[in-house]
Amino acid sequence: MPNRRTQPDAQRLRVIYVMGAGRSGSTVLSALLGAHPQVIGVGELEQYLLPHQGGLDGQLCSCRRWHLQCPFWREVFDRWQSAGHGVDPQTFVAWQARYSDFRGLGHLRWLRLIGNGVRCSASFERYLAATEALLRAIAETAGRSVIVDSSKNPLRALLLGRISDLDVRVVHAVRDGRAVAWSRKKTYRKDELSGVQREFRSLPAWYTATHWSLVNAIASLVRRRFADHAALIRYEDLVTEPEATLERLGQSVGLDMRPVIDDVRHGREIPVGHMIAGNRLRMSGVIRVRADTEWIRKLPARDRRTCWIIAGWLLKRYGYTRQGECTRRGPCAPQGTSARRAA
Ligand SMILES: [Zn+2]
Repeated sequence: MPNRRTQPDAQRLRVIYVMGAGRSGSTVLSALLGAHPQVIGVGELEQYLLPHQGGLDGQLCSCRRWHLQCPFWREVFDRWQSAGHGVDPQTFVAWQARYSDFRGLGHLRWLRLIGNGVRCSASFERYLAATEALLRAIAETAGRSVIVDSSKNPLRALLLGRISDLDVRVVHAVRDGRAVAWSRKKTYRKDELSGVQREFRSLPAWYTATHWSLVNAIASLVRRRFADHAALIRYEDLVTEPEATLERLGQSVGLDMRPVIDDVRHGREIPVGHMIAGNRLRMSGVIRVRADTEWIRKLPARDRRTCWIIAGWLLKRYGYTRQGECTRRGPCAPQGTSARRAA
């Protein structure tokens, strides 16, 4: 799958990519991984630069400074621009919009990319080179050897996998689609200082269940593509059995997670660092691992039925029952052999 390699294995930059549907715990997962002393968690890197009124805009960092006002991201930007990849930020943003979207390469080409059969254009190769330069600028600025990018979009995992000098590990974050449906039924007004980056209007359960199924089905295909370098992590396991789940996660991404497990065991707050986008939780500066099971009490029975009709086939494969419980079957089994086979 990757292009030709120019770096010896020991010098390849490791990127842990967190993918999955929104509201599935990717920000908590990213913060927990980012608390490891070798790791920098940067949030949703795909949102790093955005087109805005003919120019460029950035997101509000979790340190409550805007993109280039944040000393960390300012240094990243300067290093990235002096790295000699020859792609200006405006072009980079335009290419990112093209290549990170289904519409960019066309559905058939995405399917071929999953199957490793796609030939790359010159601009695609240059976009990958600029993406690698950005990741290296982040690692150098942070002084860390591992980056966590929680952009969520499964297609981005395939892009990163095409960069030969990266050691990409994929984490597929899954949460019960009915919990996601409940979360998406709520309306949030845009309030960037509180971490709400745009207006979120209430979405019907059928829409969320369809979107959840599509994203997770694609993520499952992508996860298979990464084979032994991929893990499936359920939100429910992370919040109810964080120690065992983090240990299993660490084995998949090649990290000894004992320092983080120790923090979780003692109830310590986990700092979020300089996350550029993600769940509003990041704006509090710290996170705690805590189960949110509100949907079990509040999601109307009619919406539950709708979710099960649309997404039940996939919920079952991830070990969720119709009653809303998590079984230990399938991909949820701890340290299991079934984790890589299922879904
Ligand atoms: Zn910052």
